[in-house]
Formats: sequence, structure tokens, C-alpha cells
Amino acid sequence: MAYKVLYRKYRPSTFSEIVGQEVIVKTLQNSIINDKISHAYLFTGPRGTGKTSTAKVLAKVLNCQNIKNGEACGKCDSCKNFNSSPDILEIDAASNNGVEEIRELRNNISLAPSVSKYKVYIIDEVHMLSSGAFNALLKTLEEPPEHAIFILATTEVYKVPITILSRCQRFDFKKITEEDMSSHLKEICKKEKIDCNDDVIKEIYNLSDGCMRDALSILDQNSKLDGKVTIDELENNYEIVTRKSIDELLDSIKTANVKKTVEIIDTYANNGMNSQKLIKGIIRYLNQIAVDCKLHKINNYDFNKIKKIIMKLNDCYIDARINDNVFDIIKLSFLEEMDEISVSSSEEKVLPKENEEKPKDKSLIDIRINNCFSSANKESLTKIKEIWDEAKKQRINNINLSDYSPIAASDTNIIFTSEDESLANLMNVNATSVEKVVKKLGFPAKVVGISSKKWDELKKEFILNKQKGIKYEYIEEPKKTDKGNKIKEEVNQIFESEIVEIS
Ligand SMILES: [Zn+2]
Repeated sequence: MAYKVLYRKYRPSTFSEIVGQEVIVKTLQNSIINDKISHAYLFTGPRGTGKTSTAKVLAKVLNCQNIKNGEACGKCDSCKNFNSSPDILEIDAASNNGVEEIRELRNNISLAPSVSKYKVYIIDEVHMLSSGAFNALLKTLEEPPEHAIFILATTEVYKVPITILSRCQRFDFKKITEEDMSSHLKEICKKEKIDCNDDVIKEIYNLSDGCMRDALSILDQNSKLDGKVTIDELENNYEIVTRKSIDELLDSIKTANVKKTVEIIDTYANNGMNSQKLIKGIIRYLNQIAVDCKLHKINNYDFNKIKKIIMKLNDCYIDARINDNVFDIIKLSFLEEMDEISVSSSEEKVLPKENEEKPKDKSLIDIRINNCFSSANKESLTKIKEIWDEAKKQRINNINLSDYSPIAASDTNIIFTSEDESLANLMNVNATSVEKVVKKLGFPAKVVGISSKKWDELKKEFILNKQKGIKYEYIEEPKKTDKGNKIKEEVNQIFESEIVEIS
């Protein structure tokens, strides 16, 4: 059997198979059940929402010899021969002005249907009829014979003369919702054994913009070869922006990762992505994120910042028509936003990489952690553990050393963990005193306290960095220009700021 495109194969043949137009279907079925059939219907709505399919189903039901609950039986002669019935007449007003067809229609309309109960005229894209054809049609609609039924379909109802509209029972078809389309596509994928995950279905929905015909043809074209559809394929074939890549972009902005942000936008530009399409795609997703923010479905984005980016991108979109360097403007918009975000962001943890300039504004805590990691070894840890029992007996100000355990050590640095952040800070504020104690016991080293929770995070990060080949290199601590209280004050200030940052 010849390959039938999905759109044709899954064209609804019953009311129950029509996707996403429940109200219309219900109303039509009720009118059939209650025998309140109209002689002229007008189906209006966006393309691919099922107008013509519904018209055909309606025509089939109307002529069925054994209607059951407003649905065609599918078994009677009329149902079986429906596709070749001489009494179902389709006119495509888009192909010509329709004058000829309407004239013919007028000449033949008085003739009784040859095999069915009704002659059904389905006029597609009715708004394309010339004014002559409209006039001819109007005359017919004014006094239609009992056996004639008109179903007019249009995407542009405002172009249909009011005189025609007033004679029709009007049905407004809606864009198919994501939910309806998704479940329909999933069903088809299952039947056709097409490998297609939820993310892909979501992208197909976005691409089709609620048009089932488009959605099915996308599914068709991309699954033909290997029976599966992937996000990458869709990205390549349709220049789409996926939620995944938007999340990646937003993440890079949130963490003030300039390099990554520039990289992502450059990739789009280098792949020949149409800039307006890109902006449109990004805005669509950001809108969704903004809505989710307001609905408290997600809490990892800041509504106002998202809104700001949308407004900026909107400007970019307008610029895109006259500007060749839109990608640069997009980049700038994001980078600008990043500055604002990064000021309040405390999450960024930059580690010195090889051949890269070391960040100058690292906090003392970060430097000490980094330095410990740079040459941590088991011997040093064993050593501090051995002397720690003795150290714990010492009294320092308001600090109880029993609250701390050495967790990592190098020859120069020791990291202690405590149950919580406030205890860790207490050690940091008294770092010099702690250092004196361990030095007396034979281990001259810089100390730093962190919470157990933070240690878990750092350990994870350490392992990850090791896998990536990122090295921790020793960083000199900020120079102490003076001795005594001034240094203490300075150090305390750094730690104080850390307290704020951590909490
Ligand atoms: Zn039937």
C-alpha cells in the first residue's frame, strides 16, 4: 500500500475523532439529535483547526441512514460510499474566484440529490469568492431547497459579507490547545511507532502554532527516515529555539557567566539562525517563564528581570528589520542584564584555571578553601586530627573548639566544619586565635571554618572540577600592610561581608 501522509491517515472521520473543538462538536451533535439542522453553517477560525474535517464529518452524519447519538454509523451505504458520493460537493474558493462553480451550483441546486438525503456544499476559503459569486451565493442562501446544506469555511471571516454571515449558523474554531495536540500526537506516535519524547512534542506544538496539519507534517517529515524525531533535528530543520537552550542561556545570565552567554548567542548566529525567529522564540519562552513565576509554579527566576529582558528583546525585534548586527544587540541586552544580576548574585564561584588571570576579588574564605584544595593531603589531615583532641581543650574567647572537626588539610591550610553557618563564622572571626593554638601544637597553618552543608557542596564541586581537569592553584592571601588591630579589623570585615553573603 502506498504511503499515506499522517495528516491524511489521521483525518477525523467521526465527531469523536475531532481534536480540540469539543463545544462545536457537542453543539452540532445536539442539533442533529434534536433534528434542528441548519441549512447554512459558517466555520471560521485559524488554519489547521479542523474546519474542513468537521464539515466533512457533518456532511457524513447528515446523510447517514442510521445515525446513532449524533454520530454516523460508518456501515450504511451512504457512509461506505461517502468519499465518492456525488452529493457532497467541495468548492475551493481559493483556486479561482468561484464564479463558475457558484453559477453551476445555482443551476444544479434544485436537482434532488442522486443517492443521499442531502446535497452538501462545502465551500472552503469562502472569503475568496468574488463579489459576483457572493451575490449568486446569497440568492441561493436566501431560499435554499430543503435538500441543500451549505457549509462555508473561512480563515478570514471579516471578509465575508454581512448578508452572507447573517444567513449562517456560525461556529468559531479555536486554535488547538497544547494539551489536546500533545495527547493526539502521542497517540499517533504510539500507533506509528515513532520515537518522540515530551520535549519534542512540545516543540512540534510550538512550531505548528496550534495547527494540527502542520504538526502532523512536521512529525511526518522528521520521522520518515529513522522513525524518530529529536530536538536536534527540529532545531536544525526549523531554526527553533528550545526551552532547553533558553534555560541554558538564562542560567548563564544568572550566574553572570559572560563567556557562556556570548558562546550561546554566537552559536545561534553562526548556525544562520534568523535573528527575528530567535528573538520571537526567546520571548515566547520568557513569557511562559514569567507566567510560571507569577503563578508560583517556579521560583528560580525573578519576574521583574525576565520582564526587563523581554522588553529589551522587543526593541531588538524591531531593530532586526533594519539592523544587520542584531545578534550583537541581543548579546548586549543580555550582558547588560547580567551586570545587574551579578551585583546581587553571591553564587558565582570562580576557580582559577590554568593560564587564566586569577580573580582579584575573592573572599578570604574562598582563598583559604582554594589553597587547602590546591595541595590537600592525607598526611596533613592525619596530623591535624592527632593534635585536634589536645587543641579542643584550649579556651578561646567565646568559641568552643569541640564544635569543629578538621575535614581537609594541606601543609599550609586547614578546613574545619561545623554544624551550621553561624558556628563557622565564629571560627572565622577568631581565626587568628585558632591558628595560634594549632601552631603551638606543631601545625602552623591558616584555618577556615565552613558548615557541613557547604562542605558537601564544595566536595561535589571539587570532584566535578577534577573530572573537568580544572586545577586549584595556590593564591596569595591579601597583603597585610599593618599589624595588630587594623589587620584584625580588615580580616573581620572580609568575614563579616561573608556572613551576609552566606546567609
Ligand atoms: Zn451510516
